[in-house]
Amino acid sequence: SIYERIEKLDRYLRAYITIRPRKEVEAEVRQQVEEARRDGGRPLAGLLVAVKDVIHVKGLPVTCGSKMLEKYIAVYDATVVSKLREAGAVVLGKTNMDEFAMGSTGETSAYGASRNPWSPDRVPGGSSSGTAVALAAGMATLGLGTDTGGSIRMPSAWTGLYGLKPTYGLVSRYGLVSYADSLEQIGPMARNTRDLALILEAIAGFDPRDSTSLPEKLKDYLKAAEDGIRDGVNGLRVAVIKEFMEHPGVHESVKMLVERAAKLLGDAGAMLGEVSLGREVLEYSLPAYYVIAMAEASSNLARYDGVRYGPREPPKPWEGWNTYYSRIRAAYFGLEVKMRIMLGSWMLSSGYRDQYYIRALKMRRIVRDRVLALLKEFDILLAPAVVTPPPLLGEVVDDPEKMYALDLATVIANLSGVPAATAPTGIIEGIPIGVQLIARPLGEHTLLRALGALE
Ligand code: GLN
Repeated sequence: SIYERIEKLDRYLRAYITIRPRKEVEAEVRQQVEEARRDGGRPLAGLLVAVKDVIHVKGLPVTCGSKMLEKYIAVYDATVVSKLREAGAVVLGKTNMDEFAMGSTGETSAYGASRNPWSPDRVPGGSSSGTAVALAAGMATLGLGTDTGGSIRMPSAWTGLYGLKPTYGLVSRYGLVSYADSLEQIGPMARNTRDLALILEAIAGFDPRDSTSLPEKLKDYLKAAEDGIRDGVNGLRVAVIKEFMEHPGVHESVKMLVERAAKLLGDAGAMLGEVSLGREVLEYSLPAYYVIAMAEASSNLARYDGVRYGPREPPKPWEGWNTYYSRIRAAYFGLEVKMRIMLGSWMLSSGYRDQYYIRALKMRRIVRDRVLALLKEFDILLAPAVVTPPPLLGEVVDDPEKMYALDLATVIANLSGVPAATAPTGIIEGIPIGVQLIARPLGEHTLLRALGALE
């Protein structure tokens, strides 16, 4: 059973931070299956979900991979969690992640780095590292991750999974602990496109509790995936993004995978082309992303001060509040998080705001306009998901420049708000690696059809 696998593997792989008691989960599974038998519906009846530990599940801790929230227990369910339950799924546990979703390798977690099950000396990718490891090692059936700058796509692409970052606003963020609100989405991770589509079908849709939620009603994602698997992608216009194929930072075998994916889609009926994002977009999207993400993070993480959230320790005599806040934040935040809060506050401060934050917003507009223009001509843009195979544990985590460079191909979709997914298309150095497909806003059906054709 899944519990036996977890028992055997997870001490080493570290996919989970919290695992629900077996008896409780098994009882809920029986109940879900029975209700499905009685009333029908419930397409996910009894399936076990691994939930990234940044999403609220009532009664369970929400650590966000941080010591700051080690003892924080959720008092309500995130909308995605209630929706998964309505579809019959059962939460198995909360998964390991980079602290507050800041990272690309899973290593900034305060609970120890997860390992890549395909090659345990390497990272699984982050920040949704634990969900990816749980799925890849058979320790869950369905998964939820979040993607602010690639955190669903990166670990999916490094562990042989399918992962999808939805259109901004398609999936409710109610009950998600914010890192950078304007960029992030909760999304599905799975071992095949049907599962991926079913999770998305369950969690997508308008939510009055999320002011950025879109009024999308059209679902039928499963049908789209199945159409792709059965009939291919006749007439779909697919373009490879040229710059990534010429970029020195993109590993040669990753380039070959993108070419292979293009050929597979061509064989499945797609019309192939090539597009150019332009030098500007390629050069500035990564810096723009990190400026915006850090700025928003510095504001979102202000609430962890040891009074409103975080451990409430008795203030020392004569210690002022500012000293108290600083002491708590110094003790309970990790290094990456502290660095981002400081840089983010600095980039928002008067005098620097125009130079950094405002310029990054302008750049974001340029990226978005360019991507949307290309998506008028083509239905799918094809690109690497990750630019290299996964690094060894410890190889990049202390070198921000190297770690951030891994996100070169993923942040574009977040800056633009468009949906993007990864599908495994080949093996590099013994690890199944994925490529990235980008579609126009609310183009999830197109994405799933193409993913189906690649499966
Ligand atoms: N690696 C990126 C970052 O650290 C993206 C993380 C994410 O998508 N949550 O910001």
